[in-house]
Amino acid sequence: MRRTLIAGNWKMNGSLSSIETLINGIKNGLAEVTNADMAVCPPAIYIPKVNELIGDANIGLGSQNICDQEAGAFTGELAPSMLKEFNCRYAIIGHSERRSLYSESDELVAKRFAMAVKHGITPLFCIGETLQERESGVMEDVVSRQLDAVIDSQGIDAIGQCVIAYEPVWAIGTGVTASPEQAQAVHAFIRNKLAALSEDVAAKVQILYGGSMNAANAAELLSQTDIDGGLIGGAALKADDFLAIGKSA
Ligand code: PEP
Repeated sequence: MRRTLIAGNWKMNGSLSSIETLINGIKNGLAEVTNADMAVCPPAIYIPKVNELIGDANIGLGSQNICDQEAGAFTGELAPSMLKEFNCRYAIIGHSERRSLYSESDELVAKRFAMAVKHGITPLFCIGETLQERESGVMEDVVSRQLDAVIDSQGIDAIGQCVIAYEPVWAIGTGVTASPEQAQAVHAFIRNKLAALSEDVAAKVQILYGGSMNAANAAELLSQTDIDGGLIGGAALKADDFLAIGKSA
């Protein structure tokens, strides 16, 4: 039985005072979230503070990226060992904003993935097609190519050590959500593709949906057979909204 994970991607939002309000708000309502694990991925500079604010509450902590190298002359990057020092359990890897705005290739994404796994950090591995790709009928090819970048370099078992986040780019931050049927269809495609290589990995890997998920649409999305949680952007910035998504699991 796969457990539901609701992970918040705060992107480049927040301040010292707002993150305190947000984490305290999540902690206050956490007992009412009974069917999901909750996690937050703050901007890197706030990771130490968020780690401190979480304390012993059951909220997973993640980064929004991770370097593909151990340490050294890599200006602006975050070493896996540094993330471990602040209890990061997850690292978002391959988010569409990194792929499109910062030109991260499938190859670099796969290298970041390998480094996370090597250090016991679970990749929140983002994949998904643009609107143009969907409309031109290559959606499955795109999602396959993104998955294959990891599978070909690290083997199918590596996928068993990550959480996949299917995030159609056209639904991210747009207020346009994939319908539950559209999302389920791609999640099933992903799981079937993995099952062809390993039934075991396919059965156990959590596949989250991301793209304008909110308190109003979460229950229906989360009730789909192959949707095991959500990667939440905008709606993760208010404790009540984020908790409401967790409670709808
Ligand atoms: C995201 O950035 O991963 C995301 C899903 O954002 P939003 O929920 O705002 O669409």
